[in-house]
Amino acid sequence: MQEWIDILQKNKLGEVLLNEPLSKHTTWKVGGPADALVIINTKKELQMVLAVLKQFDVLWKVLGKGSNLLVQDKGYRGAILKLGTEFQDISFNETSIKVGSGFPLIRLANLAAKRGLTGLEFAGGIPGTVGGAVFMNAGAHGSDIAHVLQEAEILLANGEIEIWDTNNFAFQYRTSALQQKKAIILHAIFRLQEGNRKKIADDMANFKSRRSSSQPYHLPNAGSVFRNPENNYAGRLIEELGLKGYQIGGAQISTLHANFIVNVGNATAKDILTLISFVKEKVKEEYNISLRTEIEVVGEG
Ligand SMILES: Cc1cc2nc3c(=O)[nH]c(=O)nc-3n(C[C@H](O)[C@H](O)[C@H](O)COP(=O)(O)OP(=O)(O)OC[C@H]3O[C@@H](n4cnc5c(N)ncnc54)[C@H](O)[C@@H]3O)c2cc1C
Repeated sequence: MQEWIDILQKNKLGEVLLNEPLSKHTTWKVGGPADALVIINTKKELQMVLAVLKQFDVLWKVLGKGSNLLVQDKGYRGAILKLGTEFQDISFNETSIKVGSGFPLIRLANLAAKRGLTGLEFAGGIPGTVGGAVFMNAGAHGSDIAHVLQEAEILLANGEIEIWDTNNFAFQYRTSALQQKKAIILHAIFRLQEGNRKKIADDMANFKSRRSSSQPYHLPNAGSVFRNPENNYAGRLIEELGLKGYQIGGAQISTLHANFIVNVGNATAKDILTLISFVKEKVKEEYNISLRTEIEVVGEG
C-alpha cells in the first residue's frame, strides 16, 4: 500500500475508501477508480490530510456531486477528497446565508425560497454542491453565483485560510479565479434580498418545468457539455448539424437537448470523449467556431 494511504488510515484522518470507482460519484456514472477517496468531516482534519498529501507529493482533487466532471476510464492516481458533516452546515441571518461548501445547491435554493429570500431561484435545478457552484460560477435563467455571493472562506494548498470576495473570484461566464488555483472552498456567504414568497415559488416552478421539458433528466448526464460561444448557443449549432441522437458506444447526443450528452447504458469516458471530439470537429468544419468544454476532464484515460 502507498505510504500516504497508510498514514491517513493509521491516524484516522478521514474515512479512506480504497480503489473507489468514481462512476459511483459522478452524474454521468462513468469513471475508473481513485487510489483513495477520502471523506473528511472537519476543517482541522482537512488541513491535516492536505499536509500528508503535500509531504508525499500526492495529486488531489475535491469532489462535489460530480455533476460537471468526466472522470476517465483508468481513474485517478491520487486522493479524491469529499467534504462531509462540518461542510454541510447552514445558518440564516436576515437576508444573508452562511453555508458549507458541501451543501447541495438545490436544497439551498429551496430553503431560501421558503424564507421568502430572492436571488437563488436560478439555482433550483443545478444538481451540484455550493463549492462546485462557486468554483464554476454556475448559472441559469439569466443569473449566476456571481450575482449573489458575498464572500467565501478558502483553504489554500499550503494550509493557509483566506476570505475571498467577488473581486478575488473574478467571476465570468462559468469561470472563477479558483480554476487557476489549488484551493478548497470551505463555506460561502450569500447575500439575498427579501422578496415575495409566491413570486419566488412561481418563478422556480416555471424554471423547473422549462428544464424538465427541454433537458434529459431520465438519463445520466453532466449538464451542458460545451460552453456557449460568444453571441451563440452550442446546443443550437450542434442541433443545426443534425447531430441530435448521434451515438458513439454508450454515449449519445441527447435527442432533447443537443448540448447534453447522455449515457444510454454502459458508456465509457472514452465514448464520451470521442463524441466530444467529433462534435468539435464538425462545428469547426461547418461554422469555423472552436467549441470549448464546460465539463472538466479528470484522471487517466
Ligand atoms: C442535469 C444537470 C443540469 C445542470 N444544469 C446546470 C446549469 O443550469 N447551470 C450550470 O452552471 N451548471 C449546470 N450543471 C453542471 C453542474 O451541476 C455545475 O457545474 C455544478 O456547479 C457542479 O457542482 P458539483 O458539486 O457537482 O461539482 P463537481 O462536478 O464535483 O466538481 C466541479 C469542479 O468544482 C471543484 N469543486 C467542487 N467542490 C469544491 C470545493 N469545495 N472547493 C473547491 N473546488 C471545488 C471540483 O474540484 C471540480 O474542479 C448541470 C448538471 C447536470 C447533471
